[in-house]
Amino acid sequence: MTDIAQEMPWLGGAWSAVQQRLAQDRLPHALLIVGERGVGKREWAQAVGGLLLCSSPAKLGAGTVVACGHCKQCELMAAGSHPDLRVYAPEKSRMVKVDQIRALSSFAVASPQVAHHKVVIVDRADQLNINAANALLKTLEEPLPDVTLLLLQESGRPVLPTIRSRCQALTIPLPSAEQAGRWLADKVSELEDGSQPGTDVLAKSLLLAGNAPRLALEYVMGDFLTLRDSAFDAFRKFMKGQVPVGEAAKAFKALGLEDTLWLFEGWAVDLARAGVGGEVTDPDAADMLGYLAQTNPPWRAHELLERVKESRSAAVYNASPELEASQLLIAWRDLMPRKRQAS
Ligand SMILES: [Zn+2]
Repeated sequence: MTDIAQEMPWLGGAWSAVQQRLAQDRLPHALLIVGERGVGKREWAQAVGGLLLCSSPAKLGAGTVVACGHCKQCELMAAGSHPDLRVYAPEKSRMVKVDQIRALSSFAVASPQVAHHKVVIVDRADQLNINAANALLKTLEEPLPDVTLLLLQESGRPVLPTIRSRCQALTIPLPSAEQAGRWLADKVSELEDGSQPGTDVLAKSLLLAGNAPRLALEYVMGDFLTLRDSAFDAFRKFMKGQVPVGEAAKAFKALGLEDTLWLFEGWAVDLARAGVGGEVTDPDAADMLGYLAQTNPPWRAHELLERVKESRSAAVYNASPELEASQLLIAWRDLMPRKRQAS
């Protein structure tokens, strides 16, 4: 029996919003949860799903109700195999497809198998292709009493207004740096393989993840930091004319498309910040971005951000990270004074 708001306090606002609506028996059939990448939207949705499926929810203090943790439903949830909970997510970092939404629709109209309710999580609602969005609209327009839809949206990535208008929206804020740091240190101390990453690794992960705790944990556990360092090195060398574009772009291949676009987006945001005298979040890139901000008008940063957006929508068509990185690198090099560019 765990309270998600105890484990991840920054989820507390959106969690108590659900608690209140449940207590008043007014939980809407569709909720849209908005939050940064890696802030914990999925954990929040799993907790709400677990609560809705549990057959004997337990009351904690202050009116909070949580899944009991030991009924049949909770056991199935813990095993990750509850037949009345379905998660639809993009495959290989691309889009949620119409076939998935068709499966969702059939699931929504079928009777629950073992619980009295069904829960559908769409992670992420901002990655629905147009046909999938239209198919989802039908399910949203004909609410069924025994289904709750939890749509997850990454901040800054639009969801079609027709979808948004049929959901109640809740926002999950980022935790403070201190809260995120404490949570990350706790998680890391629970690692059982004896690998204890240093505090510098934790700090850098938090910084690059913008204090989104789940994302920072992913960085600590995976090889993102290493891949990112060599990608940044290639980027810097290319800007100085030391390596050709094809070679620089290769360094982005192992990151995959999503992370490649994520990095270029972060650098462009930092460039925009530096342009108005703000502080950049990526300390490694600070010198280079500071220099570019001094030698270019501010709109160049926004142009680069637009390019990332374009690449992201083109990602539907299976673009390769190397190809996208080449195009973005060339756009960035246009910011260098002519004499510094490689021919
Ligand atoms: Zn239970």
